[in-house]
Amino acid sequence: MIIQLKPGLTEKEKSALLEAVAHIGYKASEVQTQFRQYLVCVGKTEFDIRRLGTMPGVDDIHRVSDPYKLVSRKWRVEDTAIDLGDGVVVDRQRLSIMAGPCSIESEEQVEKTVEHLLKNGIRIMRGGVYKPRSSPYSFRGLGLEGLKMWSAIAKRNGIKIITEVMHTEQIEAMEPYVDIFQVGARNAQNFNLLDALGEVDKPVLLKRGMSGTIEELLQAAEYVFSNGNEKIILCERGIRTFETASRNTFDINAIPILKEKSHLPVVADPSHGIGVRRFVADIALACVAAGADGLLLEVHETPEKAASDGQQTLNFQEAERLYRKVEAVRKAVVG
Ligand code: PEP
Ligand code: MN
Repeated sequence: MIIQLKPGLTEKEKSALLEAVAHIGYKASEVQTQFRQYLVCVGKTEFDIRRLGTMPGVDDIHRVSDPYKLVSRKWRVEDTAIDLGDGVVVDRQRLSIMAGPCSIESEEQVEKTVEHLLKNGIRIMRGGVYKPRSSPYSFRGLGLEGLKMWSAIAKRNGIKIITEVMHTEQIEAMEPYVDIFQVGARNAQNFNLLDALGEVDKPVLLKRGMSGTIEELLQAAEYVFSNGNEKIILCERGIRTFETASRNTFDINAIPILKEKSHLPVVADPSHGIGVRRFVADIALACVAAGADGLLLEVHETPEKAASDGQQTLNFQEAERLYRKVEAVRKAVVG
């Protein structure tokens, strides 16, 4: 059960509510986000919800049977929009393309990518400065200095930045330069990281874990929300199965399922989803047809020379062809 509290409720009203919740045998957790205050109440006994709903200080009350509560569609029926400022919004009214290299490599690479994005009307650039790599000997990113360089160029050009944060200790230093924090598949259940991102007033994009279920992704989102941050984007990026012909098995099913289960925007990452450059565009179009609210795409001027994930990265011409097709598919689907 979620009780949304009235903005100006008094301490006395809150105490009376907490007492009433305890009385019916429910455990209440207080949640204060950048927007509102809630009581998330978990329990099993049957009771008349109207008794609580009419108490002073209550704005709204809902029973939510899902294990995740605040991110559930059962509670919030309207879609959540994530406003990045300067007219850049991630929501269900548009398709948000977030494109760029797997790793930020150099100033020249950033300049060229920004030029490519501007030419194609794309406002969000992806790129990693802290890279989770299977081998410790692979390129692991330019770190904070790379982020600062990238951010200066992006800001100058009105481009927003999405980049991965791997550790709670990185958050504070990264925050001034980041528009969306990405939590990678390998950190999908790093609950300390999720808790910490709940305390930040910046959007968070959560990737599905390598062997994570849809419900686990929604629970990860619940961690961020219940710690105070409502600005969450969900991302399907493929899961590991017995199949070896593709890097991951892209779970297209997750897109409509997540959109039905949650009010949060749902983005798809076909680059990691299939992991094979020549198939990325087709899977991207399938994501749009399935209702994705955005695409996270790996794009590089010369993928053959990319420091990471070149095998699944589109060059600028391939990406441009895809953007045009994406528009057509989106129109066909949305009308
Ligand atoms: C990435 O976006 O480059 C990345 C490492 O993604 P994932 O966490 O999905 O593997
Ligand atoms: Mn990558």
